[in-house]
Amino acid sequence: MTKSIGQILKQEHFTQKDIVQLLKSSKEDEKILFTKSSEIKLKYIGKYVYFRGLIEFSNLCKKDCLYCGIRAGNQNVNRYDIANEQILKAAKFAYDNKYGSLVLQSGERSDKIFVDRISELLKEIKSLSNNELGITISLGEQSEETYQKWFDCGAHRYLLRIESSNKELYQKIHPNNKDHSFEKRMSCLKNLQKIGYQTGTGVMIGLPFQTYEDLANDLLFMKEFDIDMVGMGPFIEHSETPLYQYKDQLMNLNDRFRLTLRMIAVLRIMMKDINIASATALQAIDPLGREKALRIGANIIMPNITPTAERANYLLYQNKPCIDEGADDCTNCMEARINMADGEIGYRQWGDSLHFGKRQ
Ligand code: SAM
Ligand code: SF4
Repeated sequence: MTKSIGQILKQEHFTQKDIVQLLKSSKEDEKILFTKSSEIKLKYIGKYVYFRGLIEFSNLCKKDCLYCGIRAGNQNVNRYDIANEQILKAAKFAYDNKYGSLVLQSGERSDKIFVDRISELLKEIKSLSNNELGITISLGEQSEETYQKWFDCGAHRYLLRIESSNKELYQKIHPNNKDHSFEKRMSCLKNLQKIGYQTGTGVMIGLPFQTYEDLANDLLFMKEFDIDMVGMGPFIEHSETPLYQYKDQLMNLNDRFRLTLRMIAVLRIMMKDINIASATALQAIDPLGREKALRIGANIIMPNITPTAERANYLLYQNKPCIDEGADDCTNCMEARINMADGEIGYRQWGDSLHFGKRQ
C-alpha cells in the first residue's frame, strides 16, 4: 500500500521507495515537503546563509568528462589561467568585504608545478587574511599526498562530487579509462575524509539515463558516507560535449529545476545539520533559483568573485549566469537576494558544517 506523505515524513529513516515517492510528489505534497524541510533548516541550522567567494581561476583541465563544457577535448574553449596576483586580489576582496570563506576551483591538473602553486596560494591567502578566511578547494582527483599537503597549507574543506553514485551511470558519463574510474573517485572521497577535511560531494540531477531510483540512492549514499557538505544541481547540456546527443531524451529544464529543489528538501530532512550549497546552475534555469533553494533547505551560497574578464570562459554549461558582472555587483545582488529569502548573511564567519563538528 502506498504511504501518505505525512506517514513518510514522520519516519526517522527513509527507504529508497520512500525517497522516490517524495521526489515524485504532487504539487500539494511538494508544499508539505518544502514546509517540513524549511522548518528543519530553521531549527537545526538557523537563518544564516554563509558566503563562499568562488574563484574559478583556470579552465585548463586534463580530464574529458562527457558532460562538461571545459573538458580537455573541447577545442573551442579559450583556455585561461589567472595569475597568482589576481587570485590574491580576489581573496583580498573577499576578506575586505567580510566574506567568511573562499572556494578555489579549476579544471583538474596534478603536475608538481600546479600542486606547489596551490600550496603557496593557500599559505598566502591565510596570511593576507590573518588566518581568518576559511578555504574550500575543488580541484578534482589528486593523490592522498597532495590532499594532505594542501590540508597542511590551510585548506580545510574539499568539494568532489560523486556525480552519480550509480557506478554504471558514472561510467556512461565519463570516458572509459583508468583516469575516470568510479573506484578512484570513491577512494579520493575516503582519503579526504581520513585526512580530516570537511568533505563535500554532490550529483548532477537530470542526467541522461538517470532514474528516480538512482537519485534516491544518491541521497542514501550521502547519508551512508556521512558527508559534511553537499553541492548538487541540475545537469545542463552543453552543445560542445558528447552528452549533448541525448538532449531530446532529457527531462525539460523546469522539471530538472523542481527535482533539484526536491532533492535538496529531502536531503535536508535526512541530514539535518550538514551544509547544503545553493548551486549556481539553479539560477541558470530560474533567475530566483538560488533563493528558492535557500528557503527550502540550502544554507550556503557562492558569489562568483572571479575577475570578470575570464568568467565567460568557464562555461561548464550554456546560459551560465553572472558572467558579465564584477565581484562588487555580485555581492550586492546576493545580499538583496538573501534578504528576499528571509535569510541573513553570516559575515566574517566560516559557517562550518555543524555535522562535521559532531563527527569529530
Ligand atoms: N574539475 C573539478 C571537478 O571536476 O571536481 C572542479 C570543477 S568542475 C567544473 C565542478 C562541477 O561542475 C563538477 O563536479 C560537475 O558536477 C559540474 N558540471 C560540469 N558540467 C556540468 C553541466 N553540464 N551541468 C551541470 N553541472 C556541470
Ligand atoms: Fe575537468 Fe572538472 Fe570539467 Fe571534468 S568536470 S572536465 S574534471 S573541469
